[in-house]
Amino acid sequence: GRGQPSGDTIAALASGAGQAGVAVIRISGPAVPEIVTDLIGRLPRPRYAVLAAFFDDQEQAIDKGLVLYFPAPASFTGEHVAELHGHGSPILVDLLLQRLVALGARLAGPGEFSQRAFLNDKLSLDQAEAIADAIAAKSAVTARAAVRAVEGAFADEIEALVAELTALRVYTEAAIDFPDEEDVNFLGDGQILGRLDAIATDLAALRRAAGQGAGFRDGLRVVIVGRPNVGKSSLLNRLARRDSAIVTDIAGTTRDVLTEQLSIDGLPLTLIDTAGLRDTLDPVEAEGVRRARAEIDTADRVLLVIDDTAGLTRDDQALIDEFANLASGSGLTLIANKSDLSGQCPGACEIGGLPGVRVSAHSGEGFEALGQHLKHLAGLDDQAEPVFVARRRHLTALDAAARHLVDARQVLTVDAAGDLVAEELRLAQNALGEITGRVTSDDLLGEIFSSFCIGK
Ligand code: GDP
Ligand code: ZN
Repeated sequence: GRGQPSGDTIAALASGAGQAGVAVIRISGPAVPEIVTDLIGRLPRPRYAVLAAFFDDQEQAIDKGLVLYFPAPASFTGEHVAELHGHGSPILVDLLLQRLVALGARLAGPGEFSQRAFLNDKLSLDQAEAIADAIAAKSAVTARAAVRAVEGAFADEIEALVAELTALRVYTEAAIDFPDEEDVNFLGDGQILGRLDAIATDLAALRRAAGQGAGFRDGLRVVIVGRPNVGKSSLLNRLARRDSAIVTDIAGTTRDVLTEQLSIDGLPLTLIDTAGLRDTLDPVEAEGVRRARAEIDTADRVLLVIDDTAGLTRDDQALIDEFANLASGSGLTLIANKSDLSGQCPGACEIGGLPGVRVSAHSGEGFEALGQHLKHLAGLDDQAEPVFVARRRHLTALDAAARHLVDARQVLTVDAAGDLVAEELRLAQNALGEITGRVTSDDLLGEIFSSFCIGK
């Protein structure tokens, strides 16, 4: 195991809360056999579903349902685990959880089951994260990619790279121990350099895949701004209609701001329409600008809509000046709308020195190019689905590993210092180890697992 398995037994609702046909309560820990025996009067055969009554301390049935018992270590957490499938009533679930606590379990905190699975080597850290990502996925593409990561699509690639790095370290250290003996110059014979470059190439490919995975996981947060009547609402409606999969209204942070969640070819997109600000979104009106600015500060991109029949007006230019380079990462894309009226050719274009897309929210022309543009902004140029989901923390670690490989190349080719090469390889290995959890701090673990929901 990776850490101290905690000695207690935890219980939580594993299925969704609220009324449902079935609710699944999961218990994990050393006391599971005893608790299950006390609850239903016997211990079921491992991995077979049995129908049983769940008794309270008066031997009255709280509920009746299926019970599954998974003895350690062949379980999700690696500990003894049981699942109780009862009726999906919040009241019954509560009574059952109370009963389990009376029998010696404790209510689980967020992510505790996954954390135990990680500590017992059942999952790598990125796999545990991918479970949370699969549950929270905002598009089918993201959900599929998360499931592939749970299955190890990312962890396996990392482990393969770590194995290559380890082998090269061993070779380099041998070269240090036998320098220039019998006409052989290990450090200078090109072997190490060739293998170093091969690893760097593999790492770069993995970084690209992870970047896509992160793009699909996080999606893009886009704010739509523009003068009144340029077609902001129409644009939003067209985008929302284009994708039939997911369109939900979620309450905006500001009363006047409408937020929509949708996806373009699987890329989750959060669109923030400042249409509610239309009467106040005058460049000289401070309050409207202040609210729009608050949204823009958290956005990845600002789409500034202009009326293509009017071209770039002075008011548009004032908005560009107001919103350009507001937030650190976000930039402006100009959307020249109403191309059906202007007669200009729809598609990607440049407007006033800024990247733009000419569209018609009425006819839908140009929206293919707009979708491409948004995917480009998310770093997802090729159409392909991500191989797995990834998080920003993973990208940071991959970038750190890549930098150490560059450093390793430098100390090898310039300084011919074998010990420094070995050290850079070790640092690169550590960086990769942070992704799978081979190398982690308790702080990081606490941060990651506490962001999970209870019962996971
Ligand atoms: P907003 O105030 O920026 O949200 O603009 P709206 O979406 O409410 O649109 C303002 C007016 O322009 C409405 O009458 C729309 O029907 C019209 N409109 C919006 N987009 C287009 C377009 O692409 N072509 C044409 N011909 N009219 C459009
Ligand atoms: Zn370095």
